[in-house]
Amino acid sequence: MKGRACPEKPMLRGQKNPERNPNREPEALSRALLRWYDQVRRDLPFRRTRDPYAIWVSEVMLQQTQVSTVVPYFERWMQRFPSVNALAAASEDEVLHAWQGLGYYSRARSLRRAAQSIVERFEGKLPNGVADLLSLPGIGPYSAGAIASIAFGERTPVVDGNVVRVLSRLFALRGDPAKTPLKALLWQKAGELVPKVRPGDFNQALMELGATLCTPQQPSCEACPWARTCQAHALGLSEELPELAKRAAVTNVRMAAALILFRERVAVVKLEADANRWGGMWQFPNVELEARETANAGAERAGRTLAGIDAQAKASLPSVKHAVTRFRITLEAVCCVASAGKTSAGVGVERVVWKRADELSEIAMPAAHRRLARSLETWLAQADVRKARKRSAGS
Ligand code: SF4
Repeated sequence: MKGRACPEKPMLRGQKNPERNPNREPEALSRALLRWYDQVRRDLPFRRTRDPYAIWVSEVMLQQTQVSTVVPYFERWMQRFPSVNALAAASEDEVLHAWQGLGYYSRARSLRRAAQSIVERFEGKLPNGVADLLSLPGIGPYSAGAIASIAFGERTPVVDGNVVRVLSRLFALRGDPAKTPLKALLWQKAGELVPKVRPGDFNQALMELGATLCTPQQPSCEACPWARTCQAHALGLSEELPELAKRAAVTNVRMAAALILFRERVAVVKLEADANRWGGMWQFPNVELEARETANAGAERAGRTLAGIDAQAKASLPSVKHAVTRFRITLEAVCCVASAGKTSAGVGVERVVWKRADELSEIAMPAAHRRLARSLETWLAQADVRKARKRSAGS
């Protein structure tokens, strides 16, 4: 059953009313949620600290990324950049190197720029008000609310994808939650629920409820602390809400990456920060393949146009599959040999350098290219074995 966006008067199935009205008892709801959270909360490194900087870093890492992936990155990050000042003083390459594999690299660049701004404007201490937090690069309403409530105990809401799902169901709200008026109403409802005491814990509990029980499919309502109040549960609408807009169709993309060798070194390019894909990261020259273009031809074109290198395709390496947003990328890897070591950065390329294969681990590469780098090392090691065998057979 689909209805027009009319969140204050939701279209309900109307078979059964919930026992309680969620609009009338915000305090009881927040108490029940905190009781549940105290029993089930996961012990995570960023929950053992009140350091605003650590909380900020964890909140940025957790956007679009699962908790289990974030934990080791967070721990390494805090060792490498233990304070705002340490992050502000780091180079962009160092920061991206620590972030590599987490994806969405603009988050890492914004963290560093925001750290520099905090040093300049706030003496290296994260500001504690939402308005000041919002003035920093990369900090939007979600991050500002999370930092202000978790680190500083400010009574302010957060609304992320999990919260949208839980509140759309609790209040049985129809409409597209990414658009007004429902978007604004969700922030308002979240704000009404945040208690004066433990606002940060409440916000984390709400997100935890969405991540663990109030899941997109088959929510575990029987274990939910809000089951007796939840309107969607009572009315059999849980799996219909929220009414998210249809996702853009998946687009398959074929790309070729050139692993160009010259005198035991391989060429890598660093794209400008605002490049569409993998901006600011080191990578093998790569292009999207045109219709009917072979991987070999594409790799040679990538070398020529991005790095100014004339190279000939010699061997295929295993291709790498990579998904980012709606794109499913197949990256065909081709080993090429250059006729000369001269390079010239193409349009959108900041730098081109030659590196030994064992030096590639020192530069920041996106996960897909890191896998190509490992393939290259294996391929070179096998080539050495083949050469040694040939020599011994000839002697
Ligand atoms: S009762 Fe079910 S649908 Fe409602 S908030 Fe809890 S888990 Fe979500």
